[in-house]
Amino acid sequence: MDFSNEINNLKQRGLYRELKYFESQQAPYNTILGRKVMVLSSNNYLGLCNDERIKKAVCEAIHKYGVGSGGSRLLSGSFEIHKKLEQKIAQFKFCQDSIIFNNGFMANLGVISAICDKSSVVFCDRLNHASIIDGIRLSGAKLVVYKHCDVLDLEKKIKRYNNGRGLIVTDGVFSMDGDIAPMDDIVSIAEKYGLLTMVDDAHATGVIGKKGRGTSEYFNIKGKIDIEMGTLSKAIGSEGGYVAGKRDMIDFLRNKARSFIYSTAIAPHNVAAAIAGIDIIENEPQRIANLRKNSQYIKEALGLNMRCRSEASSLVDVSGITPIIPIVIGDAEKALNFSSSLLEQGIYIPAVRPPTVPEGESRLRLTVTALHMIEDLKRVADIMRKIL
Ligand SMILES: *Cc1c(COP(=O)(O)O)cnc(C)c1O
Repeated sequence: MDFSNEINNLKQRGLYRELKYFESQQAPYNTILGRKVMVLSSNNYLGLCNDERIKKAVCEAIHKYGVGSGGSRLLSGSFEIHKKLEQKIAQFKFCQDSIIFNNGFMANLGVISAICDKSSVVFCDRLNHASIIDGIRLSGAKLVVYKHCDVLDLEKKIKRYNNGRGLIVTDGVFSMDGDIAPMDDIVSIAEKYGLLTMVDDAHATGVIGKKGRGTSEYFNIKGKIDIEMGTLSKAIGSEGGYVAGKRDMIDFLRNKARSFIYSTAIAPHNVAAAIAGIDIIENEPQRIANLRKNSQYIKEALGLNMRCRSEASSLVDVSGITPIIPIVIGDAEKALNFSSSLLEQGIYIPAVRPPTVPEGESRLRLTVTALHMIEDLKRVADIMRKIL
């Protein structure tokens, strides 16, 4: 392969990706190449990446357990703190048990490839995260894509392809669009046709639902989604992935999920950070309230229509507002230029281009966190409207 040719090709199409490096901790303000920037693209929704209490919990865990786990979970890398976190996630999610992975990507690969095989059919929203798609491919299952959040199309496809060994999988909050999957309807359809359901709550945990417990709490369908997957790396502020559900399903995953079995266990201090993060989410509901206030403010200030289906339903509830605001530009190069103009004004929102989003849907993915100040958001909205 001629790599330099491939890279030039990407550059010509506006699809070349470049790393930008922060010079201090994840926060509303940071520094890139010596320039102070306001960050409006982080998944640190509740501001927990650098909470002093969590840092302290991490230091204590390092003193007690060291910096690496030294083994895979089933051999010599399980510590009591892993079990403590798994129980805590189960309790937070109102599930019987949970299993943790090194990250959300590995959780999706592990769970889907363990539960599905060549004889399965997986019904997958068109805009699901890449790790879900890769998990389905790895499993060898038949992949059936349905239109984004469209339960009529989903049912049509189920009627056509269901063979009795099926799974419906969807992002809870869509990572690049910020809308919410109609999970109540999806669960009803799954029950009607005898299918398993799985939700990826990477951007829903700590964000939607009265207490930030995610999609099942938002729709009040606790215990009805078979597989509740999520990450510890977004609102929870640490790293790691999890799957929560019924005891037997989790036990099965401990025996069968290859990304769980054949990888060194997540380091104890990251586990400690996640435990401390969930504690804060449970004890400080004002963080979620603030996140919603900021999300709503920026959407209104930008004059964007909210796109969540759930907001049109009887479930109207401020929690239907998510902190992910897609500003769809279309052309990749134009999105890049918009992002550069903002950076010149000290605002950091990188452009998201294909294949992360569909062709022709390049965008700025703006996110707010609980820690942003309304005055700052107002300034950003003014600048953005001017450039647009
Ligand atoms: C971020 C993300 C993941 C992956 O989680 P990591 O812990 O970052 O690996 C999976 N699914 C969705 C929808 C995500 O946004």
